[in-house]
Amino acid sequence: MGSREVAVTIPCAICGKCYGLKRVGYEWIASTGVCLPCYRIGAKMPDTQWCFASESVYDPHDPICAKKCPDRKVCRDVLKGRIVLEE
Ligand SMILES: [Zn+2]
Repeated sequence: MGSREVAVTIPCAICGKCYGLKRVGYEWIASTGVCLPCYRIGAKMPDTQWCFASESVYDPHDPICAKKCPDRKVCRDVLKGRIVLEE
């Protein structure tokens, strides 16, 4: 890479790790600005700390899950298998 070449990267809102544009949508989720490694951690956390992707907590009829939670789309996609968190 030449020294004048500027790589455009976007930081994860949680861990601050920067992702190149090619990884957006794969490792960095545009709707929340959070990376998949952080969501992997979140999925393993106790529900009381971060209920992300918890089948026992997620309820599509709950106003928080349906409208308010910033992670709602990612959470739903993970629970439906549209986003796979396993490495
Ligand atoms: Zn992150």
